[in-house]
Amino acid sequence: MSAVETLFIFVNMNIEEKINKLRAQLREHNYNYYVLDNPTISDYDFDVMLKELQALETAHPEYDDPNSPTHRVGGEVTKNFETVAHTFRMYSLDNSYSKEDLLDWEKRIKKMVDGEVKYTCELKYDGASMSLTYENGQLQRAVTRGDGFQGDDVTTNIKTIKSVPLQLKGDYPPKFEIRGEIVLPFEGFVKMNAERVANGEEPYRNPRNTASGSLKLQDSAEVAKRPLECLLYSLKAERLPVTTQFESLEKARSWGFKVPDIAKLASSIDEVLEFVTYWDVHRHELPYETDGVVIKVNNLQQQEELGYTAKAPRWAMAYKFKAEQVSTVLEKITYQVGRTGAITPVANLQPVALAGTIVKRASLHNADQIEKLDIREGDTVFVEKGGEIIPKIIGVDFTKRDPNSEPTTYISECPECQTALVRTEGEAQHYCPNTTGCPPQIIGRIQHFISRKAMDIEGLGGETVALLVENKLIYNYADLYELTVAQLLPLERMAQKSAENLVAGVAASKAIPFERVLFALGIRYVGETVAKKLAKHFKSIDALQAANFEQLIAVDEIGDRIAQSVIEFFSSEENIHTVNRLKDFGVQLQLSEAALANQTDVLAGNIFVVSGVFTKVSRTELKKLIEDNGGKVSSSISGKTNYVVAGDNMGPSKRTKAESLGISIISEDDFLAMI
Ligand code: AMP
Ligand code: ZN
Repeated sequence: MSAVETLFIFVNMNIEEKINKLRAQLREHNYNYYVLDNPTISDYDFDVMLKELQALETAHPEYDDPNSPTHRVGGEVTKNFETVAHTFRMYSLDNSYSKEDLLDWEKRIKKMVDGEVKYTCELKYDGASMSLTYENGQLQRAVTRGDGFQGDDVTTNIKTIKSVPLQLKGDYPPKFEIRGEIVLPFEGFVKMNAERVANGEEPYRNPRNTASGSLKLQDSAEVAKRPLECLLYSLKAERLPVTTQFESLEKARSWGFKVPDIAKLASSIDEVLEFVTYWDVHRHELPYETDGVVIKVNNLQQQEELGYTAKAPRWAMAYKFKAEQVSTVLEKITYQVGRTGAITPVANLQPVALAGTIVKRASLHNADQIEKLDIREGDTVFVEKGGEIIPKIIGVDFTKRDPNSEPTTYISECPECQTALVRTEGEAQHYCPNTTGCPPQIIGRIQHFISRKAMDIEGLGGETVALLVENKLIYNYADLYELTVAQLLPLERMAQKSAENLVAGVAASKAIPFERVLFALGIRYVGETVAKKLAKHFKSIDALQAANFEQLIAVDEIGDRIAQSVIEFFSSEENIHTVNRLKDFGVQLQLSEAALANQTDVLAGNIFVVSGVFTKVSRTELKKLIEDNGGKVSSSISGKTNYVVAGDNMGPSKRTKAESLGISIISEDDFLAMI
């Protein structure tokens, strides 16, 4: 090696060391400032160090690190956020509003688990939920909750939030996920709005929407300017180094995460209520918005035992603070027609400020609701808004009613096509039966077909669908597959490029799997989950079409109402014709080979309860295996249970119960042998 080469390596080593040292120092200062709220150097000194690091990194791109503190200033632009599947589903929470609700919940829990139950009480931060994945202490990925199964990858934007550590410290596990809420503290919100007003822009309505909107900004440098914070509250991994929720909060804090230390451990529902009562008042002193308390069973083993319902963990419960309420005048009741022909009455209100937004409309749900509330045009009504986005009318101020007012008479004809409405026995909703001639139904069905969770057709939006229908280019969703660029070009605001994209988007949708196509067809009551169940059971549209009522209700979780609706759908010549056309165009109307390959019926007719900890497969995998092979998973042991798959630490009360009912208790290996 020449002297020059040696010198070169020597100098470079110094530079690498220097870069690493600056990064470590900046990380520490960042942590002191944003997580601990306790800076130890001036902003000026911090900036000088950051600039020095930036200069070194620019001169030596070979030492680039995506998690360097310099990446916090943003600058990367994301055009389309990639959709990614969550490793662990992000559930919603069940809500409670009273002591009784909590006591009921405790009763349900105690039936399902053994031993003493303690609770971790945390505040429910009101922002946008986020899942962060760390590998070897480095932030790998940040994904929004989305629909709980999949969300948007917003990593570049999240990196700009200073309280999100890019590099962890301490004894963190090699790979895990951490969940939290992105919030915009009031102070920053007020400041941002002052700037907007000064610039002649419309102010933002509330911190929560501003926080979630920020995550989808394309320019991460813009996000970096917003004073967002990330408050963390739960760890997820196949194996965690902790046994309780409370410990996991402490651990996460020690790894460098911002975990509010408000959490409290409670040994009884009374102690939980003390926490709730205190924070219902004192939350107004916090720097960010909260809308309740989240109560979690503290012991993680007990959490596992309790598991999840279709929507939420059984081991957690949100307690909602009382919603804000205002009164305003109901000016007019109007009626909307949905894609299934369902009529929804809408209250048009005198605009009123409520919980940070201006409310102008509220749903009145159906005729019964109007009758129950005895609500009339001109009435002064009470409007409430809890966590949900759509405000609710909860009652009428009868002291202000005009004595000459008349009870509301519900419409009898469709406001769009004047067909007489029908209302089936036992149903709350009125329907317009003119499915093939009522414009909002025609448009709505196609809009549903192309929507994200259905055929997800790129290059085609809801407004374009309306335009296509109005111009008589399409009449139902099968017509989409015959559209040509030449037909589209004469339309308003349709350039060559967009026309080509639309046609290409439609063609690409032919690869969408059968279960989603089935959902897209828009059969009443066949939502996403039901479509999955039906697709899995019948495997093809032909088999589904051939099924009679008995065969349909024999499918797990398919009731009379859904079965009837499926039969009705296939009793229409027009629907059959449309489906056949889709088939001819090459749309997936049966399960793919790959989907079929992993499924069997060997467990059909058997109900399993899974309990304890497993070694070869995770609990989640085990449940999936049961379902993929035709079995059913239940959460509690009853006379209907066929097998209990027992792992380590199966609860003794479960064992006794299974034994007393004479149910076979099998091991993980026994189970795997069965399939
Ligand atoms: P909801 O969306 O009303 O069903 O409530 C569930 C959401 O509450 C979760 O997705 C989280 O985003 C949010 N959340 C806020 N604070 C917490 C907390 N401390 N623990 C769990 N979830 C929380
Ligand atoms: Zn109609």
